[in-house]
Order: sequence, then structure tokens, then C-alpha cells
Amino acid sequence: MGIAENIQNIKSKITANVKLVAVSKTQSIDAINEAYNAGQRLFGENKVQELTEKYELLQKPDINWHLIGHLQTNKVKYIAPFVDLIHSVDSLKLLLEINKQAQKNSRVINCLLQFHIASEETKFGLNYDEATFILESNEFKLLKNINICGIMGMASYSNDKNLIKEEFKSLKDIYIKLKDKYFANNSNFSEISMGMSSDWDIAITEGSTIIRIGSTIFGSRNYNKNT
Ligand SMILES: *Cc1c(COP(=O)(O)O)cnc(C)c1O
Repeated sequence: MGIAENIQNIKSKITANVKLVAVSKTQSIDAINEAYNAGQRLFGENKVQELTEKYELLQKPDINWHLIGHLQTNKVKYIAPFVDLIHSVDSLKLLLEINKQAQKNSRVINCLLQFHIASEETKFGLNYDEATFILESNEFKLLKNINICGIMGMASYSNDKNLIKEEFKSLKDIYIKLKDKYFANNSNFSEISMGMSSDWDIAITEGSTIIRIGSTIFGSRNYNKNT
């Protein structure tokens, strides 16, 4: 099947409240154009340099670009002028820098707090206590150019569907607790970004509002070609 059919197929299985981010990392400009021509407008990249290059090459103002991978403080400045949503905020230091660069660009930047929900050691992200520490800090309360829209997490890389389900449930629980405690009067705090090609159906059952899909749309990735 082609890219357009793959997108249509996923969209036919999700309701209107769930957003589909096409994860275009390692994919060519032609492949992204094919998805764009099929009506896709949300694209996700995991590396700052690749995101910036594709943003400049494509020149499509109506694409919403999401950064979904780990973000280093010293690279925020490259994406601050245009990024639509940063999924991977995992420290106060990073939030302070995003706020500073957003201010320079006269923008408010949308962010998700990334949580570590997988049983694996390798994935980035906050735990609940670290998040409350950030949200209760005076430094955070002064940030005017940050819009916290919700949270993000990645399940374990596993065939164990029960494990994945439990991890997504734990992310939903974190969302509900934070919403009650810190964002009760803030309707912007509404997104749970969870679910990838292998587990998005489980994620949706558990309350995902943003799924991030790469290989099911574009086919498998060839990392060599891009390095
Ligand atoms: C690569 C990536 C995805 C998409 O992965 P697929 O398995 O190809 O759908 C989703 N989220 C993040 C953070 C990624 O890095």
C-alpha cells in the first residue's frame, strides 16, 4: 500500500478527537510531500537538525511540525521560530530555555511533559515527583511563553500487550492527577501523546489523544541513508 492509503487506513480507525502525527524521521522530502498531498498536516521529527532542514526545504506554512525526540538545551534556538509542539520536555532547565527562545521570537511554544513509563532504563522522561517539583517551582510559575498542553510517554519495546496496556494506564493516571492538581482551570492541558506503529490501538483504548506513527505510514526506516 502507498503512503496515502496508509494514512487513510489509520484515520478511518480513529475518532476526530485523536490527532495523527506522521513521524517522518529518516524519510525523504518526496515521501513527506506524498503524505502532505494526502491531506496530512502534522509531522513529527526526533532530531533538531533534521527537523530544521525539512522545515526549510518543504516551505509549507500549513504543516505543523512537532519535535518528538530528546531536546538538548543548546538546540532549542533552532526550532523556536516555527515548532508547533515539543513532546519531549523533561526538565525545568529545558523549559526555561524554551521560554527564553519563545520570547525572542514573540511566540508562546506548546509543550508536553515527557514521562518515563517504560520498564526499560533507556527511555527519557520525568517521574511524577519530578514533574510536581517543576510545576510547583516559582521559576516555572513565571514562565509566560510556555503553554503546557499535556503529557507524553513511550511504552516498553515489548510483545507483552498487558505490560504496554499497564504503562499507558499509568500515563493516563499521571495526566488525571496533574490535571486535578495543577491544571483544573486550564483547558489547554488536554493532550496525552501515546502510541506508535506497534501499540497505537492499545494507546487509544487507554485514552490517547495524539498518536505518533512512522513505519505504518512510510514503511520501515533506513537509517544509513540519512547519516
Ligand atoms: C520513531 C518514533 C515514533 C514512531 O515510531 P514507529 O514505530 O515507526 O511508528 C514515535 N515516537 C517517537 C518518540 C519516535 O522516536
